[in-house]
Amino acid sequence: MYKAPRGTFDIYGQEHLLRDEVVNVMFDVVKMYGFSPITTPIFEESKLFIRSVGDSSDIVNKEIYEFSDKKGRSLALRPELTAPIMRSYIENKMYAQDPIKKLCYYGPSFRYERPQAGRYRQFYQFGVESMGIKNPIYDAQMIIMALHILEQLGINNFSLHINTLGSNEDRANYNKALKDYFSNHVDNLCEDCKHRLDTNPLRILDCKIDGDSDIIKNAPKLQDYLSEDSLSYYQTIKQTLDSLEITYIEDEKLVRGLDYYNDIVFEIISDSDDAKNTLVGGGRYDNLCSQLGGENISSIGFAIGVERIINTLKAQNENILENYNQDIDVYFSTSSDEERIQALRIMNQLRDGLVCECNYVDKSYKANLKQALKHNAIFLISFEDDSAIIRNLKTKEEEKMSERDLLNYFNKLR
Ligand code: AMP
Repeated sequence: MYKAPRGTFDIYGQEHLLRDEVVNVMFDVVKMYGFSPITTPIFEESKLFIRSVGDSSDIVNKEIYEFSDKKGRSLALRPELTAPIMRSYIENKMYAQDPIKKLCYYGPSFRYERPQAGRYRQFYQFGVESMGIKNPIYDAQMIIMALHILEQLGINNFSLHINTLGSNEDRANYNKALKDYFSNHVDNLCEDCKHRLDTNPLRILDCKIDGDSDIIKNAPKLQDYLSEDSLSYYQTIKQTLDSLEITYIEDEKLVRGLDYYNDIVFEIISDSDDAKNTLVGGGRYDNLCSQLGGENISSIGFAIGVERIINTLKAQNENILENYNQDIDVYFSTSSDEERIQALRIMNQLRDGLVCECNYVDKSYKANLKQALKHNAIFLISFEDDSAIIRNLKTKEEEKMSERDLLNYFNKLR
């Protein structure tokens, strides 16, 4: 028996219907903020991720699904969508008339991680990328939009964590200070962090192994390396959130696992015990465009883990899936091929909006009624002589009418 590869899953039935609704809500919210959808390939040149996400990140270093195609090109299943979307923005010259572009997406990402609850090897992200606007009030607006999505989904009990990484120059100065500091403590660092010391010392701060050690606690603080401009940019974001009465936690350890961020970074973390996880992660990335060969265009975005949203919704309401059924509106109870052809003819007309079904194998009226009720059908239609008998399963009313009158009956209902 074949099994889905480790860390992957099939989506079907009520799960799929719930997911469809979740994703629709997400798209509906961001459309109100002017975002339009984009779909890019699920694989890209490997180099795209190495140059953007960074080869010091776990995502590229350990988790990337990389392969060569038949012509020897090095390709990778996308581990995230920011870099592919920026690639598309540049390649399609989307900036030509107006650099401002607001794009939203939904699709799978792939990371070779150790599977566990809320962590998969193929998972789905909904996200937004906004190019061409640099303004701290807009950054606050992006965070507010993420909160708006969660609110529309009915998710409660989460906290917003924010931090600033400062400008690139601030980051470079800070990285140098960290390098000097950690170089004196090499022996106490894990193997990964020893490597990070050369490639990106900032990432030592969110190491899962060394994270709580005194060496990290006593390390230089980014806050001491932020320029006036960076601080005032961050301050305006906080003031905007304050004036809209949005609570947040300032989290100096929040550096995010990808290399391209600057200034604001944020995460929304679920407080629920059953799904304690980062639901949303995002930040500003002003240099990614130029780094990938485009112009100097400031951008900001975030991604939401759709499975984590679904797990959180299920933790909040363990019966949630019961609300997601493939309901039928009109069920036809037939007892011969002749009647089934008649039913097909009527269903062709009604399927202009109504979900219709009939039995294709002879079954008793009672068995068909049971089937109709199981799928929450509103009407059950059977045939007698040349007439149709329509039974309203909610009001229990029954009426006998011709096929033409039946179609009129439904036309009037619309
Ligand atoms: P990241 O690009 O790592 O910030 O991821 C953005 C969001 O995607 C996270 O906040 C999670 O909700 C989700 N996510 C990341 N990795 C996984 C994974 N392996 N399985 C499921 N969801 C994930």
